[in-house]
Amino acid sequence: MKNVTLIPGDGIGPEVSQAVQKVIEAAGVEIEWEEANAGKGVMEEYGTPLPDEVLDSVRKNKVALKGPITTPVGSGFRSVNVAIRKKLDLYTNLRPVKTYEGAPTKFKDVDYVVFRENTEGLYAGIEHKVGEDAAESIKITTRQASERIVKAAFEYAQRENRKLVTAVHKANIMKLSDGLFLEVAREVAEEYPEIEFNDRIVDNMCMQLVQYPEEYDVLVMPNLYGDVISDLGAGLIGGLGLTPGANIGDEIAVFEAVHGSAPDIAGENKANPIALLLSGVLMLRHLKETDAADRIEAAVADVLAEGQTLTGDLGGNATTTEITEAIIDRL
Ligand code: NAD
Repeated sequence: MKNVTLIPGDGIGPEVSQAVQKVIEAAGVEIEWEEANAGKGVMEEYGTPLPDEVLDSVRKNKVALKGPITTPVGSGFRSVNVAIRKKLDLYTNLRPVKTYEGAPTKFKDVDYVVFRENTEGLYAGIEHKVGEDAAESIKITTRQASERIVKAAFEYAQRENRKLVTAVHKANIMKLSDGLFLEVAREVAEEYPEIEFNDRIVDNMCMQLVQYPEEYDVLVMPNLYGDVISDLGAGLIGGLGLTPGANIGDEIAVFEAVHGSAPDIAGENKANPIALLLSGVLMLRHLKETDAADRIEAAVADVLAEGQTLTGDLGGNATTTEITEAIIDRL
């Protein structure tokens, strides 16, 4: 029995997390879910959208599956999603980008993984106005943070039998900050002689990923580029309903889809559970439940390839419940 914290989230979060729980149970993995809620729904009771008991539960169990949480615009509370990553020092944002037959995309044979630095860069949150008509954002790059994300990418490549790591940067212009990132990446690469290493300037990387996505394997980059390149990846494989992710630190990992709470379809049994389910597959691999992970991924691939039971975002008209049942049937 494995203990995992479940943060269902809001919007479509509870619908898709319930679907994932069902599929994992049907695959025969025994998980003791410890439910802990965050977001607007708990504000009144706890006076904060992120109660300590949520973080305590994740710290104790070391692994969490998390649904999306709405960040109300202009409400004064910062993103709970970002706060969770910061408080637990989840410095790696990992996003696999893989095409499945039957997904609504023009691309084939795409299979790369993005490692995005999650704690600094232009997202360090150091911004100020300079008088009325100007503003400054400060970009932070440290050797320590660069080193640990690049190492995480190489360790993953080694573990998963990947052949190539590509560092993505703009060191030709930001010579000091991205220059440091690239310098560190080159140093770390020397420790892994069996894995090929190259680098790409971020604008060129975008073009290459659209023209030759099949040539890339593991990509590692600072925060802002990671944000953009990851969504480009979601577009390549058929959209947010299919794109999984994980936030990983030295000891703790929180698995969540890339998409948000989709308020436009929340509560209507229309959401595609596959993005969170594939995040659950990443979680099962992290928990060394490789067999169940492989079987669930194959069941998802079958349902997509058959194209009979697809949700609206994939061009079908099946409900969340129906696509979940179809996946369970294939297991
Ligand atoms: P969104 O991802 O929620 O929705 C964008 C579009 O994609 C919508 O049309 C939605 O219906 C569709 N979509 C998303 N997931 C889908 C799924 N699983 N199945 C079918 N369709 C799906 O992005 P948004 O509307 O910009 O954000 C809504 C809220 O979510 C905001 O408050 C935002 O801050 C929050 N958010 C949270 C997270 C997170 O929890 N990690 C991530 C992104 C956004």
